[in-house]
Amino acid sequence: MKKVLIVEDMINEFVTGKFGSDRAQSIIPNVVALVKKARSLGVPIIFSCDAHTLTDKELSIWGEHAMKGSWGSEIIPELTVEKNDIIIEKNTYSAFVDTKLPDILKEMGADTLIIVGVSTDICVQNNVAFAYFLGYKTIVPRDCTASIDEEAYEISLKYMQSIYGTEITTSDKVL
Ligand SMILES: [Zn+2]
Repeated sequence: MKKVLIVEDMINEFVTGKFGSDRAQSIIPNVVALVKKARSLGVPIIFSCDAHTLTDKELSIWGEHAMKGSWGSEIIPELTVEKNDIIIEKNTYSAFVDTKLPDILKEMGADTLIIVGVSTDICVQNNVAFAYFLGYKTIVPRDCTASIDEEAYEISLKYMQSIYGTEITTSDKVL
């Protein structure tokens, strides 16, 4: 089994910015610890980050957020990016659309994606969906993901488990 850790939108905008929340902030220590563990085990780490431009369709729904090159699109300061880590800038909920991610995962020989970050019901779920379409097994540790509200979070975890066969677990069990 070749696992890859994908850290979804742990960027300022979704943690302490326009769409930030206490719930997103509460998972920081768990995500930091998991990234550290992945690094120590040689598991590749991919940061998937919103980096919008003014023509992105999504802005008509959410307004301007996490604009490319802005503070909002920067990875939160608690997470360190090291030289072997990969950053994918994305323009929509899924990091698989119009990016090199599918090729990168293929090159790595990945078969299992551990997906963490925010929001559970939006970007995490949409990445899980595309991963599933491309044949990857997905694992979501529930203590490393958050939505703005509890209900959306719980519904999304159940949906991923039943529709995409995602393993919903805890971060102490994934690596
Ligand atoms: Zn966005």
